[in-house]
Amino acid sequence: KKNEDLQSKYEELAAIDKRHFMHPTTSFKQQQEQGPKFIFTEGKGIYLKDIRGNWIIDGLSSLWNVNIGHGRPELGIAAMEQMKKLAFSSTFATNSHEPVIRLSEKVAEMMPGDLSMTFFTSGGSEANDTAFKTVRHYWELKGCFGKKKIISRKKSYHGVSVGASSATGLPAFRAFPSLAPDFYYVDSQIESLKNLIKEEGADTIAAFISEPIQGSGGVNLPPENYFKEVREICDQNNILFIADEVITGFGRTGKNFGMENFDAVPDIMVIAKGISSGYAPIGGMVISEKLKNELIELSEGVFMHGYTYSGHPMCCAVALKNLEIIEEENLIGNVRNMGDKMQEGFKWLKDRHEVISDVRGMGLLGAIELMKDKDTNTSFEQPLSVKVVEEALNHGLLGRSIIYEGQDTLAFAPPFCINKEQVEKIISIIDTSLTKVLKG
Ligand code: PLP
Repeated sequence: KKNEDLQSKYEELAAIDKRHFMHPTTSFKQQQEQGPKFIFTEGKGIYLKDIRGNWIIDGLSSLWNVNIGHGRPELGIAAMEQMKKLAFSSTFATNSHEPVIRLSEKVAEMMPGDLSMTFFTSGGSEANDTAFKTVRHYWELKGCFGKKKIISRKKSYHGVSVGASSATGLPAFRAFPSLAPDFYYVDSQIESLKNLIKEEGADTIAAFISEPIQGSGGVNLPPENYFKEVREICDQNNILFIADEVITGFGRTGKNFGMENFDAVPDIMVIAKGISSGYAPIGGMVISEKLKNELIELSEGVFMHGYTYSGHPMCCAVALKNLEIIEEENLIGNVRNMGDKMQEGFKWLKDRHEVISDVRGMGLLGAIELMKDKDTNTSFEQPLSVKVVEEALNHGLLGRSIIYEGQDTLAFAPPFCINKEQVEKIISIIDTSLTKVLKG
């Protein structure tokens, strides 16, 4: 009887979902044919509960963002207390409030190098757009009117606003007419960047942007010394270096920020997701002390850029509480320990399964690459990762399949609060699912 009730509740909501809710990043046809696969009602630690009563492991921390894990009431209390006191006030012009002041200080404390001043947004795409406008504005103030082009890397993901989609190096996200001009894409070898700068001329290039480890493009690590060389090339050519740390920021790789693994400090860092672990929508752009001082010195009029929700008090209060929990519970230390365990588990899987051609990652960010025949570099006709993700769901694990130009990848990024047994459970479910799919 209880199951029937749950099923009928699911059906009622699914019908409304199909009629009225336009999903992000979805196939409209598939939505109409299948309805929502899950309607989630609850979360606890690394688990999510579906309306029909099943608990499943959130193997990607939802969208690589619920870093502290689900169901932490402290964040709800922080939100409520802030909303009771001051739900909203503007930060435009010279207005301010305590949560945004405290959060900007906290972010500066955590940042590497001299990154020290934050512009807040509601998420990563807005933060990237902000960075693109800021660097172009900066070069204009310096009198370098030709420096407008933004260089990004192939397979990069920077979001879906017009600016952020234009910077995204995954062609599927750029399949819209009339995106923004002046965006260029390079391969991951350093030569590709050098060549593009030579071809286009450094005096036309405003900035280079990259994720420390590409997330949506398949969890791709940079070549050795890549970002050290990027830093040098940017310095030599007066090109600003933007690190998109939306996934890697605030501990995902075992360090506060992903770039700290690669010995490079950018001029601008873009943050979102992990700053609030998804409990409130907030992101931002952090600029260096040097850039800040130059902007102050050179600017005359108003910087005409600001979102209504730039520095939303409730979002700032939630982010502060989230960062406090990460610190107090040493969750980044746990990312390092459990991350090692997860990466070891992936290696163990690679030894057991011929079809795994590569395993890679850092901290609690990892990927398993699948190939029909790695000796001849032959991919499966139908991507295997899609089937493995489907099968893993039957065993209670939610993962992500990434398919791009022959890449057939399983991606995982579980919450920072994961324990040893739970890592082992994830590895064991992947093992079982892969075996089952290959037999079938
Ligand atoms: N940059 C990176 C590296 C991301 O992974 C994402 C989202 O997945 C974004 C930017 C866009 O952030 P948002 O979806 O909050 O706009």
